[in-house]
Amino acid sequence: MNIKMVDLKGQYDKISEEVNKGIQDVINSTSFINGPQVKEFNKNLSDYHSGINVVSCANGTDALQIALMSLDLKPGDEVIVPVHTYVATAEVIALLRLKPIFVDVDPDFFTIDINQIEEKITKNTKAIVPVHLYGQCANMEVIMQIASKHNLYVIEDTAQAIGAIYTFSNGKTAIAGTIGDIGTTSFFPSKNLGCYGDGGAMFIKDNELAKKCHMIANHGQSIKYHHDIIGCNSRLDSMQAAILNVKLKYIDDYSGARQKAATIYNELLKDVFGIKTPKVSDFSTHVYHQYTLVVDESINRNDLKTFLKGKGVPSMIYYPIPLHRQKAYEKELVSGENFPVTERLSNTVLSLPIHTELTREEQEFVVSSLIEFLNK
Ligand SMILES: *Cc1c(COP(=O)(O)O)cnc(C)c1O
Repeated sequence: MNIKMVDLKGQYDKISEEVNKGIQDVINSTSFINGPQVKEFNKNLSDYHSGINVVSCANGTDALQIALMSLDLKPGDEVIVPVHTYVATAEVIALLRLKPIFVDVDPDFFTIDINQIEEKITKNTKAIVPVHLYGQCANMEVIMQIASKHNLYVIEDTAQAIGAIYTFSNGKTAIAGTIGDIGTTSFFPSKNLGCYGDGGAMFIKDNELAKKCHMIANHGQSIKYHHDIIGCNSRLDSMQAAILNVKLKYIDDYSGARQKAATIYNELLKDVFGIKTPKVSDFSTHVYHQYTLVVDESINRNDLKTFLKGKGVPSMIYYPIPLHRQKAYEKELVSGENFPVTERLSNTVLSLPIHTELTREEQEFVVSSLIEFLNK
């Protein structure tokens, strides 16, 4: 068996004709940058997100950076961010000379702990960047209440949760990325909606802010050679847009396949001692960018990972070194802070293979290999 963490080739094989044609059309037109495919994709992605303004850009990290740049924050302003996340979320904050203020995460859902946000708010706090980690939304209702009370911007990092649905306590629903002031996402190949290179996008409620983000992504201009604000060069190229136009048609099937695989894992792992399967909150669907277990501390997680590898079963640790232990971010820490949940998760999480092409047979092999290790 050749089990993969993600199977982009298997997924491509099923849509290759459409994708190849899309790429060929771009080559024939030679509109490699800002071709009609980009406009079309922005429109399609907007339609998929209840008609919200979409500005595409070069990658998910840039999306976060441009979003922050659009808010006119000043050096030293504080931005609240979960400490258990991919580095990009905090990186752009520090890069813009803003101050990342780390908050620990919820042990069940792995998203920012809503009970620890308010104690971190100071007069310099300007924004919160919740991350919808592994594919399920943070508790946006509470986050939006806190933000509104303290007059803070909210930027949702939706890189791992495109298409997840959030349900408010009044029963209203919203698609991930459309709840805060700006949502950002990534089309990195292995993301749930991945292109064949780098890509990203922002979802922006306010029309003026959307125009501004579009300008920032294009050297601060809306008319060529008229640079009204300082921007950067961050564009989704036409070929990536052509690929995404095809793949976006299948996103619900892709999420469905991931959810089905997660249900099978849940079933197979139900009574396995020492293994905690991912919990789904009652306010968000889960699109399983990752299927992440928490392994009991009595089990040597790293030995388990090595054992699985020996059986041909890949697994990953997201993330092995928490941000507050990274050299680049040590100086950002406020003294006396500690993050026990994140600390523990970095030693106990293990993500199993999950992708759109995974078969039940492969999943059974993954789980039987895991059980074999536990019984040793
Ligand atoms: C992937 C990812 C990003 C960055 O996206 P890129 O397209 O790789 O720049 C940001 N935040 C999170 C949570 C991610 O998973």
